[in-house]
Amino acid sequence: MPKFTIKSTHKNELIDITQKVHHIVNTAEVEDGICLVYTLHTSAAVVVLEHWDPSIVDDFLTHMATLVPAGKWKHDKVDGNGDAHLKSAILGPSRSFPVVEGKLMLGRWQGIALAEFDGPREREVLVIVT
Ligand code: ZN
Repeated sequence: MPKFTIKSTHKNELIDITQKVHHIVNTAEVEDGICLVYTLHTSAAVVVLEHWDPSIVDDFLTHMATLVPAGKWKHDKVDGNGDAHLKSAILGPSRSFPVVEGKLMLGRWQGIALAEFDGPREREVLVIVT
């Protein structure tokens, strides 16, 4: 099963995985189908974001911190990462994409990112092309 691991370096960050997903789709030998990108974690997510202007990364992380502030959740008493679980649950662990003529179909400005909310950690991402 195609998968890869990435190491995050910050508590909250976006890691561009677009080229890794392109590579898996390009070698999958699927002409027309679906590509599922799925992360096996409860404090990370897979998102689609504009990936030309880097300021959108800061905007995204600022927005998530405003939406789900850290340090005010019951779960923080367990392992201190209640906000990370909530952000992950809101965004979800996966995204799916069309595969057309053997290629991952993304819009010109669309990029795929792993959203880390409880780093630094090693994260696993599955990419299923069918
Ligand atoms: Zn936890």
